[in-house]
Amino acid sequence: MNLQDYQGVFVFVQQVDHKITGVSYELLGKGKELAADLGTEVTAVLLGYQVEDLCPKLARYGADKIILVDNEALEPYTTEPYAHAMYSVIEKYKPAVVLYGATAIGRDLAPRVSARVHTGLTADCTKLEIDPDTKNLKMTRPAFGGNIMATILCPEHRPQMATVRPGVMQKIKPIDGAEAPVEKYDPGFEKNNKYVEVLDVVKKVSDKIDIQDAKILVSGGRGMGCPENFKLLRDLADVLGGEVSASRACVDAGWAEKDVQVGQTGKTVRPNLYIACGISGAIQHLAGMEDSDVIIAINKDENAPIFEVADYGIVGDVTKILPLFTEKLKEELA
Ligand code: FAD
Repeated sequence: MNLQDYQGVFVFVQQVDHKITGVSYELLGKGKELAADLGTEVTAVLLGYQVEDLCPKLARYGADKIILVDNEALEPYTTEPYAHAMYSVIEKYKPAVVLYGATAIGRDLAPRVSARVHTGLTADCTKLEIDPDTKNLKMTRPAFGGNIMATILCPEHRPQMATVRPGVMQKIKPIDGAEAPVEKYDPGFEKNNKYVEVLDVVKKVSDKIDIQDAKILVSGGRGMGCPENFKLLRDLADVLGGEVSASRACVDAGWAEKDVQVGQTGKTVRPNLYIACGISGAIQHLAGMEDSDVIIAINKDENAPIFEVADYGIVGDVTKILPLFTEKLKEELA
């Protein structure tokens, strides 16, 4: 393999029901930085059916070029046609780097593409940077239960591929009026025995806001004591106009739903305000919230590690402090 044949940073753009998934914009932001360090461009790879009108949005979020594969076989998402399309794009355009969101779709697609193009894949990266000497991509992710951060290289194969969880990278401020050339590519789709037919899609209806979109999170840990005390978190969140999230200990205990878990095996959040209540601050929890703008921690143990990342700390019993905090805020905000 001649590594020099592979140039440019590609981002797989995920769209579902004609809506681009947020992580794709975040990856374009990161891709732009990596491309600048490599002296190259970031290309968005958009797959779907009748999705051409989404291209201007990708330009606004940093794409220098767009490769569009528009075909009936790509609606809705199924593994084989998407894997075939991405594989074909890589074979034709030979990118040096390809990034995918670590969503259900990205986690299904990226390993299959990596096997087909005979390259490696680093899953769930928290940091991506270019080695200034070798120009290799340094892909960093937690390893051994989050106790170490491992930096992984793919020096002998191309492309270098990584998945990144939603919320880890930051999208750029949209550039009004930005334009990017769109190149249409048809890899040809022939049904084979790996094709599946989607007979029905049953959508879960939820009135809950995704904690990754919340500006304020009131988060509960094992120190809340019992599931009933989660009402104290909800009361405070309601006064502040925020949402309730939780540590894994609470999710494992059945006190909170998995989709509100913050951390390495939950969601990565970056709210304006994160209030950690009865959370010790294990490294796997911090991995999901330490980039919040302002962190307030309430814990009865003054040596709890959460205080090391907190901007403001309150030492005391959370079940006593929370009602007082909520009442005071109600008065102040009335
Ligand atoms: P604890 O660690 O038990 O802490 C409870 C805290 O509450 C203590 O600091 C205590 O002083 C305080 N407290 C007790 N009573 C009160 C009171 N009345 N008032 C005030 N404070 C009180 N964890 C996550 O959260 N998210 C993840 O995604 C995640 N992924 C993981 C992945 C792996 C591979 C592994 C090995 C672990 C993962 N964990 C994760 C688990 C993590 O290591 C911790 O076990 C977990 O975060 C602890 O949750 P906690 O802080 O709620 O509970």
